[in-house]
Amino acid sequence: AKAEGKHGAKLFHADMDINYQHRQRLKFDLSQAVADQDLSLAFQPLIDLSTGKVVSCEALVRWTHPSLGVIPPSTFIPLAEEMGLISAITNLVLRQATRECSRWPAHIGVAVNISARDFRSGDVHQMVNRSLAEAGLAANRLELEVTETALIEHRESAIESLKAFAAQGIGISLDDFGTGYSSLSYLQALPFTKLKIDRSFLSDIVTDRRARNLLTNVARIGTDLNMCVLAEGVETEEQLQVLRDHSRVQQAQGYLFSRPLPARDVADFIRHFEAA
Ligand code: C2E
Ligand code: CA
Ligand code: CA
Ligand code: CA
Repeated sequence: AKAEGKHGAKLFHADMDINYQHRQRLKFDLSQAVADQDLSLAFQPLIDLSTGKVVSCEALVRWTHPSLGVIPPSTFIPLAEEMGLISAITNLVLRQATRECSRWPAHIGVAVNISARDFRSGDVHQMVNRSLAEAGLAANRLELEVTETALIEHRESAIESLKAFAAQGIGISLDDFGTGYSSLSYLQALPFTKLKIDRSFLSDIVTDRRARNLLTNVARIGTDLNMCVLAEGVETEEQLQVLRDHSRVQQAQGYLFSRPLPARDVADFIRHFEAA
């Protein structure tokens, strides 16, 4: 048993080591990719359920590692945050996203994810406004998506920043709503224009009445506060039907409408979707 324990411990160590080395390599390669502007964007449309039209597209960052292939943002965004690289990524995403948006029909906006750390660095305003100016894009075509975590970790600076953005006419969306653990009091204190209900709330709505009730009530929180309510992760027609019948959800996003698209395919998608 003793030998086994030893052996086990050794294996565990070896594993940790590989893991550590792997992370170090990813970090190194990520900083290279950011320096070379080797990240790209995919865009996923947000659909208005009453008009059936695309209202905006969310920019989602993509990294294809030269030898390891596609690394998901859920892996490299936390690394970037650890390394202090996130504001460089946010800046890159803002510039590319606003530039793409300026080529789309004027009624279609673009949504960009802002990380908690971006509020700490303090130059998020400059990044946003420089991107808008360079792209020649009106402020009201930009939405910034923030999570509850960002608000908890950097409450003071986040509130100040978001109020300034809202005053400019930039949309502010609360992302992944319902997955945080904070109190709901900040919902009133902050100038959110949109509440994005996390897709975990949609998983059982077709089969489970209690899940439907929960969704309805979560959506009500948003509408009562005059926010636009969006459901994330709509994958099936059945889910869409439930959304229409049982909730006050106004907008939706998910694989049912479209996977995230390469930038060059967005304009075509909008044209075809709106013609259909
Ligand atoms: P998110 O902001 O909640 O983005 C939505 C994620 O859900 C995207 O994953 C999208 O591809 C995925 N998704 C969309 N529709 C469906 C669906 O119907 N079913 C399922 N199962 N998934 C769906 P992605 O692109 O892998 O991004 C993951 C997360 O990484 C994002 O979650 C966001 O938190 C972060 N992220 C992505 N791009 C950026 C960025 O530019 N900056 C920052 N700070 N974070 C980003
Ligand atoms: Ca988002
Ligand atoms: Ca989300
Ligand atoms: Ca998410």
